[in-house]
Amino acid sequence: MEKLIGQTRLVLTQGDITQADTEAIVNAANSRLVGGGGVDGAIHRAGGPEIMAECRKIGSCPTGEAVITTAGRLKAKKVIHTVGPIYRGRPEDPRLLASAYSNSMDLAAKHGLRTVAFPSLSTGAYGYPLDAAAKVALQALKQGIEKNSDKFDEVRFVLFGKDAFEAYAEALGRI
Ligand code: ADP
Repeated sequence: MEKLIGQTRLVLTQGDITQADTEAIVNAANSRLVGGGGVDGAIHRAGGPEIMAECRKIGSCPTGEAVITTAGRLKAKKVIHTVGPIYRGRPEDPRLLASAYSNSMDLAAKHGLRTVAFPSLSTGAYGYPLDAAAKVALQALKQGIEKNSDKFDEVRFVLFGKDAFEAYAEALGRI
């Protein structure tokens, strides 16, 4: 499923983000950049130790911000590590989630990375409800594409499982 925003394709797919053939993939990291389960564990396993070596040099990343490293053995050229909020039902949750998406896009644009794949940030271990997260994510990406017009050919979600795909498909219909 996809939608054209300016010259950029916003695409929804189902699968494993470590296999994405985009120039950049985004990691759902934690703020100490120490590695964890979910997307983070899968990226470090598939990409090899070079990624963690660069994360250690960087040290940390506050919630809502993003940093960039090599992609090691992955097909992608770069991994952008961003930290979504741990869901607590507070007013700042959507703002921090939107920042994680928009700062990742700004960093990709700054590095000339024209195709970017995102996972569904914060909806695994961090507990953000899928429907609410999908709405915030797609609005943030639409704004990020509009802000960085002509910088991206494709912005893709790689969603793990049918429930996530359906939640994002529903939200894409509304933006
Ligand atoms: P967070 O800590 O930000 O919640 P998680 O990695 O725990 O991050 O989960 C984020 C989302 O990514 C979840 O919806 C989870 O199902 C999904 N996910 C887990 N592994 C992968 C993968 N290899 N590719 C794409 N999505 C994945």
